[in-house]
Amino acid sequence: MNKEDMLNKIAEEIRNCTKCHLAKTRTNAVPGEGNPNARIVFIGEAPGREEDLQGRPFVGAAGKFLTQLIEGILGIPRSEVFITNVVKCRPVPNPNVPARLQRGNREPTEEEIRICSPYLDRQLEIIQPDIIVCLGRHSAKYILSKIGFHFSSLSKIRGNVFEGVIGKKKVKVFVTFHPAAALYKPPWRKIIEDDFRYLKSLMEGKRTKITLEDFF
Ligand code: SF4
Repeated sequence: MNKEDMLNKIAEEIRNCTKCHLAKTRTNAVPGEGNPNARIVFIGEAPGREEDLQGRPFVGAAGKFLTQLIEGILGIPRSEVFITNVVKCRPVPNPNVPARLQRGNREPTEEEIRICSPYLDRQLEIIQPDIIVCLGRHSAKYILSKIGFHFSSLSKIRGNVFEGVIGKKKVKVFVTFHPAAALYKPPWRKIIEDDFRYLKSLMEGKRTKITLEDFF
């Protein structure tokens, strides 16, 4: 079975998954999409309204900004990277109302992340990217914990790159704000854009890594 087939098999499992209560409210699960051989993987926290309706990651306003960052600043087509979330179904405020009828979102809980994250682990083991970009606190917290780093503040570590082994592969982990942050706090747009410029120089080998030891 090749990488694409293996990822499709996981995606099918996710679409049929009922391991947590989010299955009851979702319209569609959102496994993720992109190049099975992607060098770089982007990980958000969970699907929002548009993603739930379409079954695709980052297709709302925040997704449009992410696509601009990937294509405009990194200079690579969105289809060349892989984009997914830690939690694959949309967390909604009211657990008794279908997601399509609710406008608001909420952050995923620790329990939802614990139950759903093995799917992400399996995706990363198959893709084996060189760089993982964590978009937001939940993604950063989960991925950095896998390389032995526990943090309390996203603001303190964003814009930095860490190195570790995930899925038996040495990877660089880059942390930035979730693109939705730019929608709520317009000044953060420039911060995120600058982070992506740094990321581009990292991809081009113009920057060296900052290890956990260097950081502290
Ligand atoms: S959020 Fe994850 S664990 Fe919960 S139902 Fe969806 S795919 Fe399954």
